[in-house]
Amino acid sequence: MRTTIIGFPRIGENRELKFATEKYFSGELSSEELEDFAKDLRQKHWQLIKESGIDEIPSNDFSFYDTTLDTTCLLNIVPQEVAKLNLTDTERYFALARGYQGQKGDIKARPMKKWFNTNYHYIVPKFEKETNIFVSGDKLFKEYYEAKALGIDTRPVLIGPFTLLQLSEFEPGTDRKKITDQLITAYGEILDKLKDLGAEWIQLDEPSLVKDLTTEELAEFKAIYERLLTDQEIKVLLQTYFGDIRDAYETVINLPFAGIGLDFVEGRKTAELVAQGFPKDKILFAGVVNGKNIWRNHYQQTIETLKDFDQKKLILTTSCSLLHVPFTTENEVFPDEIKQHFAFAKEKLTELVDLATILAGNREALKDNQALFAKTRFTENQAVQKKIRELTEQDYTRKPAFQEREAIQKQAFDFPVLPTTTIGSFPQTREVKLTRAKYKRQELSQEAYDQFIAQQINEWLNWQEKIGLDVLVHGEFERNDMVEYFGQNLSGYLFSKNGWVQSYGTRGVKPPIIWGDVAREKPITVKWSTYAQEQTDKIVKGMLTGPVTILNWSFPREDISLKDSTLQIALAIQEEVLDLEKNGIRVIQIDEAALREKLPLRKTDWYSEYLDWSIPAFRLVHSKVQPTTQVHTHMCYSEFTDIIPAIDQMDADVISFEASRSNLAILDELKAQNFRTAVGPGVYDIHSPRVPSVNEIKETISKILAKVPLEKVWINPDCGLKTRGIPETKASLTNMTEAVKQVRKDL
Ligand code: GLN
Ligand code: ZN
Repeated sequence: MRTTIIGFPRIGENRELKFATEKYFSGELSSEELEDFAKDLRQKHWQLIKESGIDEIPSNDFSFYDTTLDTTCLLNIVPQEVAKLNLTDTERYFALARGYQGQKGDIKARPMKKWFNTNYHYIVPKFEKETNIFVSGDKLFKEYYEAKALGIDTRPVLIGPFTLLQLSEFEPGTDRKKITDQLITAYGEILDKLKDLGAEWIQLDEPSLVKDLTTEELAEFKAIYERLLTDQEIKVLLQTYFGDIRDAYETVINLPFAGIGLDFVEGRKTAELVAQGFPKDKILFAGVVNGKNIWRNHYQQTIETLKDFDQKKLILTTSCSLLHVPFTTENEVFPDEIKQHFAFAKEKLTELVDLATILAGNREALKDNQALFAKTRFTENQAVQKKIRELTEQDYTRKPAFQEREAIQKQAFDFPVLPTTTIGSFPQTREVKLTRAKYKRQELSQEAYDQFIAQQINEWLNWQEKIGLDVLVHGEFERNDMVEYFGQNLSGYLFSKNGWVQSYGTRGVKPPIIWGDVAREKPITVKWSTYAQEQTDKIVKGMLTGPVTILNWSFPREDISLKDSTLQIALAIQEEVLDLEKNGIRVIQIDEAALREKLPLRKTDWYSEYLDWSIPAFRLVHSKVQPTTQVHTHMCYSEFTDIIPAIDQMDADVISFEASRSNLAILDELKAQNFRTAVGPGVYDIHSPRVPSVNEIKETISKILAKVPLEKVWINPDCGLKTRGIPETKASLTNMTEAVKQVRKDL
């Protein structure tokens, strides 16, 4: 039985690649030095994979930024505005990823999007009328050579042409057929060239196959591969991940692929599909080790899945690239009792090898694993579990109904028309971050730290009053991160030291781990929220992170459902909401920045698999508050046109969302679908230091008022301001409040 993986974390054990690349950005490393660094890192990783006992090793899964971007550079899919600048290859590559501003020109970065249902992001390729695709890059071949020089015959990995087309943007008027033809020719050349170099296999990643495809899309997939797979001699592995390929299965198994990679972890129907029949002339790459989560594999269950399969036709692999999990547990300081339950990327290599030996008849490794899963991992929280069991429809229902509350709150708050507010955080200056770090390292006393935070809050409250904002915020200076801050105050959460996962480019995230039953240990935000409210007569908004976002930005448990885990978190946040209310906080914002993150890839599963429990979980958090308490929520994007009814069913009183970059297109849809929640479409983009003028904001406001009834509109920026500098923040918000004053006068 052989083993392989789909891809390995490229960032390195200690995020070496990040730091080296950032040194290149700042001019401390030349492009050659960066290349040399990357070469060493790749070697190290290949060697590590080999030494772990993995039989077939991929290459070209490495990337300085993103493999989709690598593919566009390999195939000369470079937009004209970038191509025409006289940039070096390295400059062009990073210009596409991050924009370029220098002697050779000034261009913006290509847009970036979430990679399927992960928190990894890819740079969106763009096909233009003038795009001329050919094999113009050599990274793919170079890496193959590099490994070969080390005596490792790798399987080069490349995103497949179908998924590439699916993920790309097309300039209007671009001839899709021409593009497709050119792509097929170029991929054909790549296959030939790799064959000539001596490669036995190539892996083409086609994750788009796990989405709901139309008949036309499936036909396009089929047509592409029928043309590509003619008498080529290299073996092609069609690799899918992030789900099962359902309707595409028939098509896939009837095409002349030498191997087919299927996801047995997220693909709920994969086992069923394979049981219906798998072609005898192909190899099944069975993705049985979870590439997305950090728990140990349950060996017994895994071998059950595979026991009826012809083992000579089987290669064991991961469910997706290991890029989505941290590097290794070796550097973590968890006690062994805890650590033994985790498998990060490096440990997953050993799991694959273990599974192969077990399937080959050596049961030794199975025993340890069985013992591990037989253990009680943690003490269950019976009280929380009981509460969850006893939840009824009432717990999810806020009373009175929206309209009645709306009237009550109009009276109770008596806000002016177009009430103004911000999304929560104010600039986290170096000073703020340093002070928090010092406190954490216990170099600063509780007293001194509290004094510092209080002083920040006071300054910003005064300033907010001065410019005339209607609903104030305390500024979130005490928080590092909107999930970690809450997780640290919840039982059942664990934090790794070095569990970094690439999010985009050189940016990583360190998701906390939901280890056991979650419960609130003590009040989390009450102290600073009430402190702030006591300083002013204006309303200060309490600020919480919602349960769905907390779940989606953590590594979830696998022993209970996502739903149950989210409900536990929801009950904890509910306690916090009620505590805030009890302490005089009258407006409470519950952020759901990541609500969309785990939306299933198949639209047909959106409600039944996700929204049907995640939206009620949000309601559970605020259902028990008084009618006079106003609940806000916030989302960092406006792409919810397709789930507008679900957003309304969150039953918040007010929702703010990002809108400035999307031309307020969402507003037509809200109107068309009778959206009832009051809305605060962001009136300026906070992702850029640019200061919007008063007139510009006035125009945006009048555009909003053309579509949304005046009494439903709030005025706020797109998102929190923590990443911004103080000068632009103050200038922008001053202009925002001034614009509102003028609009109010003109009404
Ligand atoms: N309240 C948070 C803040 O202002 C919201 C952040 C977010 O939506 N990502 O920072
Ligand atoms: Zn946001």
